[in-house]
Amino acid sequence: MTTTDVKFPKAETGRTIAEERLHRKQQLAAAFRLFGRFGFDEGVAGHITARDPEHSDMFWVNPFGRSFKQMRVSDLILVSHEGAVVQGDAPVNQAAFAIHSQVHAARPDVIAAAHSHSIYGKSWSALGRLLDPLTQDACAFYKDHALFDDYTGVVLDLEEGKRIGHALGDHKAVILRNHGLLTVGHSVDEAVWWFITMERSCQAQLLAEAAGTPILIDDDAATLTASQVGSHVSGYVSFQPLYAKITREQPDLFD
Ligand SMILES: [Zn+2]
Repeated sequence: MTTTDVKFPKAETGRTIAEERLHRKQQLAAAFRLFGRFGFDEGVAGHITARDPEHSDMFWVNPFGRSFKQMRVSDLILVSHEGAVVQGDAPVNQAAFAIHSQVHAARPDVIAAAHSHSIYGKSWSALGRLLDPLTQDACAFYKDHALFDDYTGVVLDLEEGKRIGHALGDHKAVILRNHGLLTVGHSVDEAVWWFITMERSCQAQLLAEAAGTPILIDDDAATLTASQVGSHVSGYVSFQPLYAKITREQPDLFD
């Protein structure tokens, strides 16, 4: 059996709006539990957002100050394009609003965006460089990520969020210099998988460069590999084992 024979559930199948909303919220709650498990939390920093399927200028996000490790579907809040919490009774992280509202506005194709202060992502970001095609996995980002080459403090104003959205362009990820990683996708699954594998690609490049002089994958092979491991479908599929495991182990995330 090859991977093309395996039947994975489709990211978008004839669900009603209410079913699609619940689906996205469940993926989001599971994504936070995984971010917690991977140690991507740093105090109150970090946010993953999912666009609402009905009100496309609104997004679901984690409430300010709640641990990723304890996130439940019922904890998620819905935020308008003006920054108002329109469902849920917890405050929104202002940086989450400033960055994610502008990324969602700049990229109508994007359903979800993920950002945290994960240790290898922020370490790599301090170098002000794009990732090189050092490994098969890193090729998912070959010519498909950008650098936001600026840092002026915590992102609290919409203008800076807009500049981040502009830097992201039509890529799947952007490295925020001296800050960390931000990834996007056509599903929560995809955005979260890109974040996890990009964090590990930063770790791999840091390790390889600390140990010696890495050999780069050549342009032809990196381009081919990017088409194999960097597609929307590949990102979605790669997330499924993680989703299955975390929902089996922590079913209270569905509460
Ligand atoms: Zn941040």
